[in-house]
Amino acid sequence: MRKQIVAGNWKMNNDYVDSELLVSKLLEQHTHSQTEVIIAPPFTSLLSSSNSLKGSQITVAAQNMHYAENGAYTGEVSAAMLKGVGVQTVILGHSERRAYFGETDALLAKKVDAALQHNIRVIFCFGEELADRKSGNEEAIVEGQIKNALFHLPASAWEQIVLAYEPVWAIGTGETASPEQAQDMHNFIRQTIANKYSSGLAAEVSILYGGSVKPANAKEIFSKADVDGGLIGGAALDVTQFTAIINAF
Ligand code: PEP
Repeated sequence: MRKQIVAGNWKMNNDYVDSELLVSKLLEQHTHSQTEVIIAPPFTSLLSSSNSLKGSQITVAAQNMHYAENGAYTGEVSAAMLKGVGVQTVILGHSERRAYFGETDALLAKKVDAALQHNIRVIFCFGEELADRKSGNEEAIVEGQIKNALFHLPASAWEQIVLAYEPVWAIGTGETASPEQAQDMHNFIRQTIANKYSSGLAAEVSILYGGSVKPANAKEIFSKADVDGGLIGGAALDVTQFTAIINAF
């Protein structure tokens, strides 16, 4: 079902102690809301964060996972391992994974399948680079990323898919897509899904925007018809800012 979601991606920040502190501050400041709130701490804090958040409305997501069930993949973590520490959601395809770790659409398709087999919801990230936007190719790039990693899925699998449009030029740069640019792209994404599946299915998919969302711009971005929330990087590390973004709905 289409939901309003605000997810915080902590990236490689916060050790176990810092994570506990941030989670306890978040619990203090978070008030009951219709907006689903997710935090994605590093692997080492997933268990403690998930335990500390038990009974609250906030859940944890992992920032990555491997597609294999187990085996000789040094340094990797499987879907079953995530499930075992209370993880219900995984972020896949973040532009930093694509850029620094060579993750391709084909690899991501395998990861998506593995997550869904374990009933882990996927926040699937994609977005164009600045050069793509400058050359007017942003829609073709985004369409390709979605098709290549997700269009092999049956319609029923989409209940467990959340999309996150994150233009690479807006991530961690302080530069944000304008609310109109975000709306145009989100509308295009919904149309792309409607063309492949159905307009009914497309209407039910939550599409988050990510890229330098801050308390000052969240309200306007979230007010757009096809923007169902945000994937937040830098501002998710500051509880006051993160809470203000959640409350921007
Ligand atoms: C992100 O990394 O997903 C992100 C959106 O980062 P930031 O909010 O810092 O741009």
